Amino acid sequence: MVVYLDNNASTRPLVSVVEAMGPFFRAEYANPSSPHRLGQRVRYEVECAREKVAQLVNAASGEIIFTSGGTESINLAVRGALGAQPVKRHLITSAVEHSSVRRLVERLAREGYRVDEVAVDHEGRLDLAMLEDRITEDTALVSVIHANNETGVLTDARRVCEIAARHGVQVHLDTVQSVGKVPIDVKELPVDLLSLSAHKLHGPKGVGALYVRKRTRLTPVTFGGRQERDLRPGTENVPAIVGFGVAAAEAMHLRPEVIGSIRRLRDAFEARVLAAIPIAHVIGGGAERVCNTSNIGFERLQAEAILILLSERGICASAGAACSSGSLEPSHVLKAMGVNPRIAHGAIRFSLSRFTTADEIDRTIDVLREVIERLSTAVG
Ligand code: PLP
Repeated sequence: MVVYLDNNASTRPLVSVVEAMGPFFRAEYANPSSPHRLGQRVRYEVECAREKVAQLVNAASGEIIFTSGGTESINLAVRGALGAQPVKRHLITSAVEHSSVRRLVERLAREGYRVDEVAVDHEGRLDLAMLEDRITEDTALVSVIHANNETGVLTDARRVCEIAARHGVQVHLDTVQSVGKVPIDVKELPVDLLSLSAHKLHGPKGVGALYVRKRTRLTPVTFGGRQERDLRPGTENVPAIVGFGVAAAEAMHLRPEVIGSIRRLRDAFEARVLAAIPIAHVIGGGAERVCNTSNIGFERLQAEAILILLSERGICASAGAACSSGSLEPSHVLKAMGVNPRIAHGAIRFSLSRFTTADEIDRTIDVLREVIERLSTAVG
């Protein structure tokens, strides 16, 4: 039995997604920019997908720009917002961003931008007073993660947007891990830019979207054809966009009961792990979190060793962000939260999905108990 608890890294594409994509590799291969009938049929499907993605966040379809995924959306949002306000040289982000924001702002700092990283508390919640304090006349953008990919901790997006709006500063939210798990409504939330990624919500990899509110100050960062309102040139990845549309529609119709049952399974998992394994600590458990993510630190153990033994027994989880695994350093997220290094070194992220079953959770707990016991004996 293989148990997949790494849904924050990527999710299983829905059967309906895969089926919807098929024809666009076979007969419907025309370029959506071509004026002939085949091209126009494909264009129609791209626009239907755009409508579905827009509905997921209650946007107008004209506010959705398709990209190659979360990373590209983020780069376009941040660089595009800076490019549109060339006199402003200051950017605010948080200490717990995904590497797609983190590495980008490192680069921007080398290019001469001033970057402030707002701290988080012990549970991973953004310090909103510090955010407001850091805003100056020179600030072009506030870019923060909505649901943290390592802990699932949610940022109070409403408060962030209200604070930024008071100072006339644009806001970009990295909603890659929150869209489809918590409702996001751009008619209610005064946000300017949202980054989305299809493969985190049971869609295909290599496709995402940037929501751009009307009148947002944004310039393109790549140049070529006139696609995607001149903001993202290049022939559209039609099969992936169609698949994204189907995944978005499915996420949109996901009943609150499904979200509730993922949450109940996650909460029961944590409670049982804590009861069975005295050296286990839930990280960020005191904050508001998305329904599916559980980050558990095992005192005095190394995450890599735990993961290897779990994987040998068919349990797929991850140590912090998938892309930073392989390093022995605790992740920047856990460091920013001030998690005790004895716990942070042994932190494992378990991320569930709507396909996770109670049997899989039972199996994971049994295996985890055995693995932790074995490693604990080894460290003495
Ligand atoms: N932002 C967050 C919070 C993520 O978790 C990820 C992916 O793990 C990304 C951005 C990047 O998305 P993509 O893999 O689509 O480039």
